[in-house]
Amino acid sequence: MSKFWSDAIRDLTPYVPGEQPKVSNIIKLNTNENPFGPSPKVTHAIHSFESNKLRKYPDPDSTSLKNTLADYYNVSSNQVFVGNGSDEVLAHAFMAFFRQKEPLLMPTITYSFYDVYCNLYNINYEHIPLGDDFSIDLTKYQRPNGGIIFANPNAPTGKALTLDAIEGLLNTNTESVVIVDEAYVDFGAQSAVSLINKYPNILVIQTFSKSRSLAGMRVGFALGNAELIEGLERVKNSFNSYPLDMLAQDTAIAAIQDEQYFQETTQQIISTREWTTVQLESIGFNVVPSKTNFVFATHRYLPGAELMGFLRTHNILVRHFSRPGIENHLRITIGTPDEMSAFIDCLKKHPDIST
Ligand code: PMP
Repeated sequence: MSKFWSDAIRDLTPYVPGEQPKVSNIIKLNTNENPFGPSPKVTHAIHSFESNKLRKYPDPDSTSLKNTLADYYNVSSNQVFVGNGSDEVLAHAFMAFFRQKEPLLMPTITYSFYDVYCNLYNINYEHIPLGDDFSIDLTKYQRPNGGIIFANPNAPTGKALTLDAIEGLLNTNTESVVIVDEAYVDFGAQSAVSLINKYPNILVIQTFSKSRSLAGMRVGFALGNAELIEGLERVKNSFNSYPLDMLAQDTAIAAIQDEQYFQETTQQIISTREWTTVQLESIGFNVVPSKTNFVFATHRYLPGAELMGFLRTHNILVRHFSRPGIENHLRITIGTPDEMSAFIDCLKKHPDIST
């Protein structure tokens, strides 16, 4: 703690401390990375990249990438914003839209960075409790102008909302910016991208880190009405007008261009998720129905912290949250079929788990 630090940073703790270990002999099911590598087209883009180009600055507008995304989602390129991972896109969006008189509304249990950005940027916020089954009731999110954010599917619960529920919210909240964080949407949920031409106040944020397996490249993007996108560009241009490096732009384009690989790998993850759910249930876990590349599960009588520790001693990492209300839950990223078999076999060796 330094006397030079402002109040906004005093209580900050590093995100997922120790969740990115430096050793390789582990099964890493703790940070929702994709277990498959990126598309072979991405590998090709890296190999054919001419390093001499690096002496120049990258395209500050990421024009080709924006055009590629615009084509893919059937929107105009002025409805697309790109940033260094969706974390940066979210940070810009909080700055651009949520510093209002009214507090921002968000679920109690959701992506933990939302609170962090509010604290950093001095944004008032209010948490709306989830239902007992971790559901989000969007009819409770009524706000004249403060803004609304939620992840769909939610994290770390994995639960998804319907498009109808989101449209219902937009019909009753016309003055507030509504951000839908769709980091995990490709694993079986309904995307709200189809609503951006109908409602001027919805911003959909997605990432290349999960379904496109490019977490290491840091590419995220937002889709919305051109006015909202311009708001994001304003923040970006006064902050860091070169959001994406050249290789990130090229590899993201290559990833979008390999639809077949994307479909095959996401389908594989979805089927492994369903298999894992059945297996966990058969050894005493309650599992929240997931539309993501992870499952959120609690054992009927064994504490979450203990199970996480047990798995760790067997070189398997999963995520445990100490937050009240979910302290007995584990968030388990879906790995390859082999990794998930090893994970289930390991749990079956726990002396208090009956099979
Ligand atoms: N939103 C949610 C809900 C997430 O879980 C994550 C990843 N931890 C992000 C956004 C940020 O992902 P990235 O910055 O890698 O795009």
